[in-house]
Amino acid sequence: MNEHEKPTETEKVSCEICLKEIPRSEAEVEEVSDYVLYFCGLDCYKKWREENKKE
Ligand SMILES: [Zn+2]
Repeated sequence: MNEHEKPTETEKVSCEICLKEIPRSEAEVEEVSDYVLYFCGLDCYKKWREENKKE
């Protein structure tokens, strides 16, 4: 057992658009009222923004 491991640094999240798994620390993050969305990169983030334009 190595208690010096930092599990939060390798935590994986799924991209909201393409569902690809990426390290949470490298994900683009968008906070929406009461939840958080993750994106693998700006391309997926922009795609989401296009589909979720604020009125
Ligand atoms: Zn993606």
